[in-house]
Amino acid sequence: MKILLVEDMRAVAALMTARLAAFGHEVCHAENGEVAVALFQREAPDLVLMDLEMPVMNGIEATGRIRALENGHVWTPIIFLTASDTPEHLVTAIEAGADDFLSKTVPENVLQAKMKALNRVAALRHELTAANRQLQDMAQRDGLTGLANRRHMDTLTDKAWERACVQKKPFGLLMLDVDNFKRYNDRYGHQAGDDCLRAVAAALTEAVQNEGENCILARYGGEEFAIVLPGHPHDDCRRIATQVLDSLRRRQIPHASNAAWGIVTASLGAAWLADASGKIADLFHLADTNLYHAKENGRNRCEMG
Ligand code: GH3
Ligand code: MG
Ligand code: MG
Ligand code: MG
Repeated sequence: MKILLVEDMRAVAALMTARLAAFGHEVCHAENGEVAVALFQREAPDLVLMDLEMPVMNGIEATGRIRALENGHVWTPIIFLTASDTPEHLVTAIEAGADDFLSKTVPENVLQAKMKALNRVAALRHELTAANRQLQDMAQRDGLTGLANRRHMDTLTDKAWERACVQKKPFGLLMLDVDNFKRYNDRYGHQAGDDCLRAVAAALTEAVQNEGENCILARYGGEEFAIVLPGHPHDDCRRIATQVLDSLRRRQIPHASNAAWGIVTASLGAAWLADASGKIADLFHLADTNLYHAKENGRNRCEMG
């Protein structure tokens, strides 16, 4: 475990560090509460052993600050190291967010046993954090393609739109719809249709791979995808649309019922504003109208409006 030891008395700190290190723990030391809060942020320890009385900032205030930093997201055990403290102090410490107390003169075997128990808590906390991260990731992705899902796209896009409106930046959008996809399913089966959507997603990913952070690629729903381009000039929209069509064509996914092409193609509708303002829904509406025109004008193309 990584342990943050907060203790102003050098001799006590040295002894405790040696004892904890002997059990294989990594110890970082803070000589007062203020240093402890800073070290807590930097080191993200598994456990805090906190003295009560210290100069600059005492243990109770430091505990309150650490709990405020955690903001309820994680809970790092904080154990108070006690010498001859009054019960009132200990009660106050628990109220401030501490979990337990331990005597500075705790026998070796008791200290070892306590650390063992806290190690189990730390392991559980790590598992929980990893599981939470995984859940969050899953909630943001489309299960079939692994791209951002519609909900996540909306969240990211709304934020980017607000920023662009404030900064008076350009804003681009490409909507893509796979051509004659119903016929693809009818001819090759729904399972193959799913594989095809994954291949389309891969083609799109490849097409935007060099666009950096300011590019949101998402499965919009069904066989429709969106590429949101905050801050991009108009030329970028045109270039990226061409890259998308090229990338898809290079894959040569057979689609015998797709007009004369014989491969999977898609139609794109673009929308672009020099200065973001108004409602983003209008931009989506414009892209949708242009997508409709792309279909009307023969498919396998991009209409910029
Ligand atoms: P158009 O060129 O005008 O877009 O014709 P289309 O056939 O692609 O359009 P339409 O909206 O009629 O059909 C879309 C089809 O996409 C219908 C639906 O079954 C299929 N589809 C939507 N989501 C999925 C999916 O997740 N997997 C599979 N296999 N098919 C899907
Ligand atoms: Mg002290
Ligand atoms: Mg469609
Ligand atoms: Mg379609």
